[in-house]
Amino acid sequence: NTNQKLNLMSKSDLQCSFCGKKKDQTKLLIAGIDAHICEVCIEQANGIIIQENNSDESHTNQRSDHNLIKPQQIKLFLDDYVIGQDYTKKIIAVSVYNHYKRISQQVENEIEIEKSNIIMVGQTGTGKTLIAKTIAKMLDVPLAIVDATVLTEAGYVGEDVEGILTKLLQSANYNVEKAEKGIVFIDEIDKIARKSDNPSITRDVSGEGVQQALLKLLEGTTVNVPPKGGRKHPDQKFIEINTENILFIAGGAFDGIERCISRRLNLNVIGYKSAENNPIISKNMLKYINPKDLKEYGLIPEIIGRLPVVTYMEPLDKNALLNILTKPKNALIKQYVKLFELDDIKLEFNKSALEFIVDKADDYGLGARGLRSMCEEILNDAMFTLPGSETKKLVVTKKYASEQIARINLEKLKAAS
Ligand code: ADP
Repeated sequence: NTNQKLNLMSKSDLQCSFCGKKKDQTKLLIAGIDAHICEVCIEQANGIIIQENNSDESHTNQRSDHNLIKPQQIKLFLDDYVIGQDYTKKIIAVSVYNHYKRISQQVENEIEIEKSNIIMVGQTGTGKTLIAKTIAKMLDVPLAIVDATVLTEAGYVGEDVEGILTKLLQSANYNVEKAEKGIVFIDEIDKIARKSDNPSITRDVSGEGVQQALLKLLEGTTVNVPPKGGRKHPDQKFIEINTENILFIAGGAFDGIERCISRRLNLNVIGYKSAENNPIISKNMLKYINPKDLKEYGLIPEIIGRLPVVTYMEPLDKNALLNILTKPKNALIKQYVKLFELDDIKLEFNKSALEFIVDKADDYGLGARGLRSMCEEILNDAMFTLPGSETKKLVVTKKYASEQIARINLEKLKAAS
């Protein structure tokens, strides 16, 4: 038996069974059942394990590159979360697919495929951010959502554009490689449009200058990124991030861009009557948007060139809002039902209550954003009183919903007086 064998050996006879070193030549000799191993051999073996693991990972990476999710699958995934917007979903599915195909191709390839950054034009609350979020979730890549309105040129009060990459880095848990394949969603890009048409603005701090700064990121360069962001930590070490493979998606409402579109299309929309008679003028003029209109609106041509995929969002009608309430995988109503369920309370909404919510939210003019606040107002009282009470079921009727809203309005009025 092993113990007996070991006991028979004098201590100085012990040696590493892998490299043969005697015990006194090693710092550490660990005993196994029938063998010994020294610290050097442990280190080496560990190195081999790490190497093996890495090569396994690169194999799976290569495999997944070949198995890129196809555009139709991307669209189907988006369908689960985003109501309507079919045109945009299709366009985005293709450009996201092309983008990741481009990243996965070998570098030595002689045909270099250009990046397909995207710009989405459409009213607030129509799903632009949601689309970006859903894409990032599907691909499991880090996402940074930034608001272009807070960006300024370096040296002015506000955030430097490098801050965008800080956010991306944070979202990637400081894994640079992951961040370099992430998605950046720049909201309200229309707010940094050049305002030089306006004579009252003498210095364009947040307009063209920011566009120029942004351009560098879009072009694909290596940027020194402050990992903690901002100018508050001047002594931090910078991290280099290459923006070449980052997908940029921009969004904006571009209020009034319809005028640029119709001017380009040579449509006379000055008199509304004539516009109504004109068959080309549809409710959603954005359908006809093209890069020229963005230029006319005040984006610099270089930026437009770096956002080659231009698409538009449809305004959400009441039917779409109703679907948004109930249909998506994580629809608002489903979320509330789940929340109540955790307290063993069964929550139901009548159809008329849902329609009431949609009507009221539509009045807010906030697109789908109003739905959330409406639901909160209607359910707040129940969420406060029902947990821990005897009541195990709540059916929200139109009457209940309107009473809750009226009550909240009354309380607000009281608070204001
Ligand atoms: P935008 O970025 O266009 O201003 P968001 O994507 O932030 O709008 O939308 C705000 C919220 O409204 C989202 O979180 C989502 O719950 C809902 N929403 C908006 N549009 C849609 C849509 N087309 N389908 C499903 N939900 C939507």
